[in-house]
Amino acid sequence: MAIANQKGGVGKTTTTINLGAALVTKGHKVLIVDLDPQGNASTGLGLEPENRKTSTYDLIVQEAPIKSVIYETGTPGLFLAPATTDLSSTDMELVSNEKRAFQLRDALLQPEMEGLEFDFVLIDCPPSLNMLTVNAMVAAHSVLIPLQSEFFALEGLSQLLLSIREVRQSANPDLRIEGVVLTMYDARNNLARQVEEDARDNLNELVFQTKIPRNVRVSEAPSYAMSVLQYDPTSRGSIAYRSLATEILKRHERVNPMRQ
Ligand code: ADP
Ligand code: MG
Repeated sequence: MAIANQKGGVGKTTTTINLGAALVTKGHKVLIVDLDPQGNASTGLGLEPENRKTSTYDLIVQEAPIKSVIYETGTPGLFLAPATTDLSSTDMELVSNEKRAFQLRDALLQPEMEGLEFDFVLIDCPPSLNMLTVNAMVAAHSVLIPLQSEFFALEGLSQLLLSIREVRQSANPDLRIEGVVLTMYDARNNLARQVEEDARDNLNELVFQTKIPRNVRVSEAPSYAMSVLQYDPTSRGSIAYRSLATEILKRHERVNPMRQ
């Protein structure tokens, strides 16, 4: 699942970490692939830059074995392929590679992935529609779009949907939209309610029922190298991310009952 939105600061990384942790509480084994050169997901899960000997850069540019870039996190069942700043040069380094859009897909299709038995792979995308995001969308079964509940939230969404359509036409015809999740939602704020109404009017059932509230525990958790589910399991943020995981699992049952 690619977690994408070309806007920065909308909750991509927060959603990747906490949805991953929530899926783990429901018994799934999850790999988080950090594709943002800023490496916020890697730091948020406690892997400092000096400890990232191998990274998604090695996976995508050097075609390193998948096992060599996977690290354990503080949450059993939750694993991480970290990012380093090297990733910021991938667009240029891959420019003459004909298969540049397929590097991540091929990495995740390595036979040794089978033995690792991940139930979900969540890919945290950078805030841009560059070659890294294209790699994520080519590799993924679906795209999860975090939408920040503020003015201009829907702006830029049509461009993202267009990119998804282009990837479908060129490289990944089965790419689905997993859904749109409202993040940093504050029910007391009229604007947030307006954004929700607009999103539901325009995108209908694509918008998850679950909204992620603005919750200080969610923003504190990464500085303790934890998901919010570990940091404060009963916080409103934890409850919301568990509810999002439940909603996603229910949708999967409907889409593909045999896989459950
Ligand atoms: P992105 O990955 O899209 O750039 P982040 O996940 O890094 O966005 O979130 C941007 C900022 O907002 C971070 O400082 C994060 O801690 C904060 N944040 C995200 N979601 C919430 C939330 N539900 N409540 C409070 N703060 C949040
Ligand atoms: Mg991020």
